[in-house]
Amino acid sequence: MAWRSSGATNELLIDNLARNGLITQARVKQAMLGVDRAHYAPFAPYQDSPQTIGHAATISAPHMHASACESLLAYLRPGARVLDVGSGSGYLTHVLAELVKPGGRVVGVEHIEPLVEMGIRNTRKSAEGRGLMDSGGLRYVNADGRLGWPEDAPYDAIHVGAAAVAFHQPLIDQLKAPGRLFMPVEEGNTQHIFIIDKKEDGTVTRKRDMGVRYVPLTDAPR
Ligand code: SAH
Repeated sequence: MAWRSSGATNELLIDNLARNGLITQARVKQAMLGVDRAHYAPFAPYQDSPQTIGHAATISAPHMHASACESLLAYLRPGARVLDVGSGSGYLTHVLAELVKPGGRVVGVEHIEPLVEMGIRNTRKSAEGRGLMDSGGLRYVNADGRLGWPEDAPYDAIHVGAAAVAFHQPLIDQLKAPGRLFMPVEEGNTQHIFIIDKKEDGTVTRKRDMGVRYVPLTDAPR
C-alpha cells in the first residue's frame, strides 16, 4: 500500500497518497503540496518510505506524516500552538506550521544538536520556510522532548515522532483542554500509535491505533 504512492515529483507523490486514500483531507493535501520533501529527505524524497537522515534518525514515510496530520487536524486551526517532539529533518514541523497559518506557532524539539541545525537549514531552503522562521511561526529547540517544552505550553496539538516507553506526563500536562497528543508507544516488541485526548473538562482518554515502527525516544547520545 505504502510503496504504491511514490511519485516522480512532490506533486505526484501527494496526488498518489490522496488517490490511495492515505490523505483524505483537503487541508492536509494543500499543506503537504506546499512543502517540498526534497528539502528534507537527502535521497529518494518522493518515495513513500522512511529515509535515513544520519545520527540514527529517519525522516518518516510520507504516509505516516499524512496520517499524523489527519489525526491532529481538528486541533490544527489557524493560530493554534503545536509541539513536534523529535523534529529530525524538520519536514513535519514545517507541514504543521503551514496548517496553523496564520498566527500559529510550532516548536520542534530535537535532542541531537546537528539535527536541530539540519531542521533549520532544511526549512530555510524555501521562501515559505524562511517566512515562518523569521515570523516566529516555526522554531527548533535543542532539548529532551520527553519533558515537552513548557515555555510555549499549553498546546492544541502535540506530535511525537519517536517511540516512547511511557506516556510521559509532562506531554499530557502541556496539552490544552481540549487538545490532542499523537504518539508512538512501545509495548514489548510492538509499537502502536496512541491518540491521547484531553477534553474540555480536563479528562484524558487514550486510544490505541495502528501498529508502527519508529526509532526510540531516548536519552541523548553522548
Ligand atoms: N518527524 C521526524 C522524525 C525523526 S526520527 C522526521 O520525520 O524527520 C525521530 C527523532 O526523534 C530523531 O531525530 C531523534 O534524534 C529524536 N529524538 C529521540 N529521542 C528524543 C528525545 N528524548 N528528545 C528529543 N528528540 C528525540
